[in-house]
Amino acid sequence: MVYHHPVADVAPRDLHNDLRRGVRDLCRGFPDPYWRELDARRAYPDAFVRALTEAGYLAALIPEQYGGSGLGVTEASIILEEINRSGGNAAACHAQMYTMGTLLRHGSDMQKRTFLPKIASGELRLQAFGVTEPTTGSDTTQVKTTATRSEDVFIVRGQKVWISRAEHSDLLLLLVRTTPADRVAKRTDGLSILLVDLRQAVGRGLTIRPIRTMMNHATTELFFDDLEVPADALIGEEGKGFRYLLDGLNAERILIAAECIGDGRWFIERSTAYANQRVVFNRPIGRNQGVQFPIARAHVNVEAADLMRFHAAALFDRGAPCGAEANMAKLLAADASWEAANVAVQTHGGFGFAEDYDIERKFRETRLYQVAPISTNLILAYVAEHVLGMPRSY
Ligand SMILES: Cc1cc2nc3c(=O)[nH]c(=O)nc-3n(C[C@H](O)[C@H](O)[C@H](O)COP(=O)(O)OP(=O)(O)OC[C@H]3O[C@@H](n4cnc5c(N)ncnc54)[C@H](O)[C@@H]3O)c2cc1C
Repeated sequence: MVYHHPVADVAPRDLHNDLRRGVRDLCRGFPDPYWRELDARRAYPDAFVRALTEAGYLAALIPEQYGGSGLGVTEASIILEEINRSGGNAAACHAQMYTMGTLLRHGSDMQKRTFLPKIASGELRLQAFGVTEPTTGSDTTQVKTTATRSEDVFIVRGQKVWISRAEHSDLLLLLVRTTPADRVAKRTDGLSILLVDLRQAVGRGLTIRPIRTMMNHATTELFFDDLEVPADALIGEEGKGFRYLLDGLNAERILIAAECIGDGRWFIERSTAYANQRVVFNRPIGRNQGVQFPIARAHVNVEAADLMRFHAAALFDRGAPCGAEANMAKLLAADASWEAANVAVQTHGGFGFAEDYDIERKFRETRLYQVAPISTNLILAYVAEHVLGMPRSY
């Protein structure tokens, strides 16, 4: 079946508003109790992700010729923002957006024809992205998972950690070292990206072990024990994977920034509503400047971060360099949502800690973005070195 998303027919100027309205309508079917109940069980939001896929939103970045909507990162970011703004958590499915660029820009025609229509229709899920390792952490070029070519397969050995949604994805974009680090001129050389079919891999050299975290995130550890991956799973050229990864990382930062903006707006709306209706000392608490100013300041910071997010997204969609802007958007938005989360707990007093108010759930969820997918320190190090020209500090 050729899948066609209705948003592609809408005039560009109306597209963003239509997208916002459409995602909000869909999210209304998944209100706070839905997410609260899943959070308590640490369960994956299957029904929500299915609904989002069926409505075509997760195929936003896939070109129309492959059954998607052919939209940009700007539009994808609006979709994810609205999910978080509605009280949900786009982390359940955002990887399909940020991994897409690697396949679109660097995959072969054959790979695109094989996978993209099925990803667009929902038959295949591309929700897992395997970079981080237990012993290398933020130092991505030092990954130790190896893929050794043997005739028409790669043999993969090693371990990954914090690989989210691996149990809820059919495909995994995996960063591996194909040439040993001591045999490459630059430390960014010799890395490659494989598109691993998890349905073939699990139990045949790949073991997935879930990690329970303080929020509902479906993250896992992966153990590769001589897993055989067909040679045609290689994306682009062998040894150039780090370069391909960088494209995806900028998209990821912009998309995560948008989720943080969504979180920030949700916290501010809830805080404002609560401050206006909660009466203590015979007046709404929101009449006190000590209550309203922190909410107002958090709002100012979310709105400022949003400008950098759209600026970065526009550069990305034009194909212009956007490393600095994507990083700055991620830092500003993550800080703004964390500030708004803290303010929301304070505004709600004791009720900020009650599960039934959802503030504490979203507070736990948005805290992640100070650390992942890139920590605040590493962004500051990037800005200091690459934007301001100071010496590399690590
Ligand atoms: C819930 C969750 C989901 C995740 N999902 C995925 C996923 O799907 N795929 C994936 O590949 N990864 C994923 N990650 C991993 C995430 O990207 C990493 O946790 C993150 O990049 C930080 O790496 P690390 O945890 O190894 O910390 P480390 O690199 O060990 O850093 C620890 C601390 O030290 C600081 N630090 C390190 N080096 C420096 C330095 N030179 N200067 C200043 N400070 C420094 C860091 O800022 C950080 O605060 C996820 C993580 C979490 C927690």
